[in-house]
Amino acid sequence: MRAVVTGGAGFLGSHLCDRLLDAGYDVVCLDNLLTGNTSNIGHLLGHPNFKFVKYNVTDYLFIDGPVDAVLHFASPASPIDYLEMPIQTLKVGSLGTHKALGLAKEKKARFLLASTSEVYGDPLVNPQPETYWGNVNPIGPRGVYDEAKRFAEALTMAYRRYHKIDARVVRIFNTYGPRMRPNDGRVVSNFIVQALDGKPLTIYGDGSQTRSFCYVSDLISGILALLKAAPSKEMDQPFNIGNPEERTVRDLAIKILALTGSSSRIEYHDLPIDDPHVRCPDIRRAKSILGWQPVISTDEGLQHTIDYFSRLTS
Ligand code: UDP
Repeated sequence: MRAVVTGGAGFLGSHLCDRLLDAGYDVVCLDNLLTGNTSNIGHLLGHPNFKFVKYNVTDYLFIDGPVDAVLHFASPASPIDYLEMPIQTLKVGSLGTHKALGLAKEKKARFLLASTSEVYGDPLVNPQPETYWGNVNPIGPRGVYDEAKRFAEALTMAYRRYHKIDARVVRIFNTYGPRMRPNDGRVVSNFIVQALDGKPLTIYGDGSQTRSFCYVSDLISGILALLKAAPSKEMDQPFNIGNPEERTVRDLAIKILALTGSSSRIEYHDLPIDDPHVRCPDIRRAKSILGWQPVISTDEGLQHTIDYFSRLTS
């Protein structure tokens, strides 16, 4: 089996490459290194079944030889990144998805789109089931990511219906773990790095907004379960993959202070525009159809991540 992973040098993409190789796949990893980094895949560069190509997937994609699976994971994914790179974000979600789908069609490969809980916007339903259509501000600064992914889902489903390609969509909820960048900007890495450096933890808003944090190995297991699932009508709908344990950002700060033993104080900053008030995945579909659910507790996952950042900074 041969898989192409776009964004394969990113946080999630690189973990995905690892696990596909473990499962016996040949892996072609494409990344333009905009937010990805070769340090995430350095350990794979000599692997006989692994090939890295520095490539912008908004350009026409040509891959020699057979391909069984195309996994489209390329995109800036942290709010600070997609706010700084709005056009690239829109392009990789639209043109990049088009090229990745075209490759899957050409090779008669299975296609898996990395979508996001951001398609639900600032949700008016909590937890969010896949049937919820969302509450997105299309013209706000976050809209570049949210709408790119919504378009990517629409295009994927059109290819599924019209070209009959075997396409699946995963909606990824907040995920954390080793290989996040120290300056990634997302809340778990920010708080851990701040706590380890003895700097104030920056809570945006009053910290009462909620998120549900999934450890990266759990997320990748869910994605592989979706990739391997037999074709069926169920694949007509996206799958939420995330950890349904919902907590406030303030609780997360307190937990990270306790786990690191840090005496950092908490500092309050303005809430970014359109920052969702709540977010929690309803994972009943993934549980019943894919037989998947997260198994890593928050304490365990955070401890692994703290260990990673401690090693990085020491
Ligand atoms: N956040 C925060 N402090 C930070 C970074 C983020 O309070 O240093 C908040 C952010 O406003 C949001 C939540 O933490 O409410 C999760 O933010 P993140 O950027 O990790 O992901 P999002 O779910 O917003 O895409």
